[in-house]
Amino acid sequence: MAATTCPICRRETVVFQKLFEKHLTKDDIQGSHGVLIFKNDAAKLCGRHLGNHENVNLAFYDVENNRWAMRFRRSPQGRHFLTGDWSQFVRGKDLLCEGRNVTFYSLRCPRCMMNIGYTIGVLKLLGKPIIV
Ligand SMILES: [Zn+2]
Repeated sequence: MAATTCPICRRETVVFQKLFEKHLTKDDIQGSHGVLIFKNDAAKLCGRHLGNHENVNLAFYDVENNRWAMRFRRSPQGRHFLTGDWSQFVRGKDLLCEGRNVTFYSLRCPRCMMNIGYTIGVLKLLGKPIIV
């Protein structure tokens, strides 16, 4: 499972902290700007970094532990997008499509509480979310 080792304390398990859910629109999937993140959710993703920078780099991990370099961007109109590797990521994941609800998670080390990265899950009708 995603990002298995904390880079700080080397503990081998991370905990998933649910941040927010997002309904994927056609623009999120096919647009060149990445996925639109609403303002309240943007704060959950970037926290205090949001006010200081136009762009924040965020590491996402998929179910095979591949690292995806996402970039969080604030447009001149004040809208927030997750871009960078997003379009590539979406192209490689059949579960990410228009109309789908996804959940964003933060990956945290339970010992030092270091944020290791992020991951995305798809909600299924029964049972737990599937990490894409
Ligand atoms: Zn740690």
